[in-house]
Amino acid sequence: MAQGIPDEVLMNTALIKDLADVAKDAALLQGVLMRAQETLVSYAPFTLFPTPVPKAVFLQALAVQTHYNTLVDRISQDSEFLQEALASTIEVDDFTARLFRIHQQILKEGRSQSIVLGLNRSDFMLDQKDGQAASLKQIEINTIAASFGGLSSQTPDLHRLVLKVAGRLEESRRILNNNPAAGLAGGIAKAWELYGSERAVIMFLVEENQRNIFDHRYVENELWKRNIRTIRRRFEDVSKTGTLDDNKNLFVDGQEVAVVYFRNGYMPQNYMSEQSWDTRLLMERSRAVKCPDISTHLAGTKKVQQVLARPGVLERFFPGQPQVVEQIRATFAGLYTLDMGPEGDTTVEMALAEPDKFVLKPQREGGGNNIYGSEICQVLEGMKDSTERMAYILMDKIHPRPVQNYLLRQDAPLKVSNCLSELGVFGAYVRQGKEMVMNECVGHLLRTKSSEHSDGGVAAGVAVLDNPLLI
Ligand code: ADP
Ligand code: MG
Ligand code: MG
Repeated sequence: MAQGIPDEVLMNTALIKDLADVAKDAALLQGVLMRAQETLVSYAPFTLFPTPVPKAVFLQALAVQTHYNTLVDRISQDSEFLQEALASTIEVDDFTARLFRIHQQILKEGRSQSIVLGLNRSDFMLDQKDGQAASLKQIEINTIAASFGGLSSQTPDLHRLVLKVAGRLEESRRILNNNPAAGLAGGIAKAWELYGSERAVIMFLVEENQRNIFDHRYVENELWKRNIRTIRRRFEDVSKTGTLDDNKNLFVDGQEVAVVYFRNGYMPQNYMSEQSWDTRLLMERSRAVKCPDISTHLAGTKKVQQVLARPGVLERFFPGQPQVVEQIRATFAGLYTLDMGPEGDTTVEMALAEPDKFVLKPQREGGGNNIYGSEICQVLEGMKDSTERMAYILMDKIHPRPVQNYLLRQDAPLKVSNCLSELGVFGAYVRQGKEMVMNECVGHLLRTKSSEHSDGGVAAGVAVLDNPLLI
């Protein structure tokens, strides 16, 4: 492995066993934690070693982030674009259609809050054909509930320690500091300040089963450090005690809410009843700052991503800024429509002819929803002449170069795996009316999985936390 971890370390079984023990204890001490069950806490899964990432592409990913922030924010304000981009999708995808209905209702009533807070994570893989340099390609952008900004603040020290114990002091110095939790909290704090009520709280809208609570806690703690109160509530809690006053101020349990930070609400199963939908609408209508608001949520759909890749579309959002357009477009993989018509028919033919070259994606989040390989043929054959296909997009499959590593997770045997990594970059921005008052790149996340799995994130139990080792 070029400038990574040498084979003499990777294949030294006794050393690896020692390192794994050191690493697991360090993860517990360092607070790299996840709930296993309600009362049981374990370390969050992570790699034993950091993964080599070329410095140039790493810096490229950081550099494009503020432009992605601007792009998402501009899309969210362009209701005509959203309407056109999502028209076919919402005909057949009920979940996106419901979100879109809320969006339209808010447009009709008029937005009651001019402060917008965006916390997102743009995910990339490095496409690497044999003998060629790695090329940075965006997998997707998450504009709602992007996770692991907290735990990834704690993993650099973990890998530094492992490398020191392994006698790799030089490599340990190449692990970058990273603190997305502080940057994400910085964005929330800015929005809270602009909201302008000292008593008002930040409400984390959380899921029923809070396995990843520690990740949230890092962000909460950063807010408490600034003397900003945070509360955690589920849809059900807000539905019971949430109200709007005459000025549309949102109160939950009698406390005024300045910011609703959604860490839930991104998949159909999160809305367990009609009441959850009513509650989402209540929050959207309120004067609380929503992170994200409904239009920013929609801007993060895979259909919007596909439409952005069409010729001329980025130019609409960056008129007179060809360099910005170039910088963003350079990170796009091939994305193809499955709308009805000749273009969509061509996509179907292309996918059926060479399914291994593509990924078929529905409008879903949270990992484990995409379709690969021969299954693409099965699924497409079944719907190729039906409007059902419009719920999906097709994307070029990215091929990163596999790297050997050990994936440490509770109750899994210690064995070397061929691994693929995905680099996430966190963005934070705040806009008030027309003015961007904050627009920052606030850190990164490397996640790694065994190449046996095509799909799935950390929460889905497939990927694990990692750190880039710049080469
Ligand atoms: P989700 O919103 O569910 O996270 P993603 O688009 O990130 O959806 O896809 C989930 C996972 O599938 C990614 O983390 C990655 O491992 C894999 N994947 C997605 N798109 C591609 C692609 N174009 N090439 C290779 N792998 C992909
Ligand atoms: Mg996603
Ligand atoms: Mg993803």
